[in-house]
Amino acid sequence: MSTIFSKIIKGEIPCNKVLEDDEFLAFHDINPRAPIHILVIPKVEYKNFQSVDPAIMEKMTKFIHRVATHMGLDKSGYRLIANNGENAGQEVLHLHFHMLGGAKLTWPNVTNLDEAKKFI
Ligand code: 5GP
Repeated sequence: MSTIFSKIIKGEIPCNKVLEDDEFLAFHDINPRAPIHILVIPKVEYKNFQSVDPAIMEKMTKFIHRVATHMGLDKSGYRLIANNGENAGQEVLHLHFHMLGGAKLTWPNVTNLDEAKKFI
């Protein structure tokens, strides 16, 4: 399946690039939810985190660390999110991590909290 991120990787759609190597690309989200909102994607297409080869994640972790250092987020802190599947609201079916930072972030109310408490 080809997504909008495949087109960004091929350069068919422009992006505001942060960092790139042979296997990964980091670029600014077009609809930022924080002062810094970066998307990190592998160039090989995986639908989401649940279907990724764990061996890729080892390399991707190192790349995310590099992006954090590049942006100063390693010192100030950041939130890393991978929306996975329908209930998480994943819109683009190409594995991506959101890196959010640049300010103190609020913790979202992700669902009905009474429902959430059933596992406590
Ligand atoms: P998801 O909801 O799938 O976790 O997140 C998809 C993200 O991709 C959203 O935050 C959305 O703003 C971002 N996005 C969608 N299309 C584009 C695009 O063409 N360029 C960029 N830079 N970000 C995009």
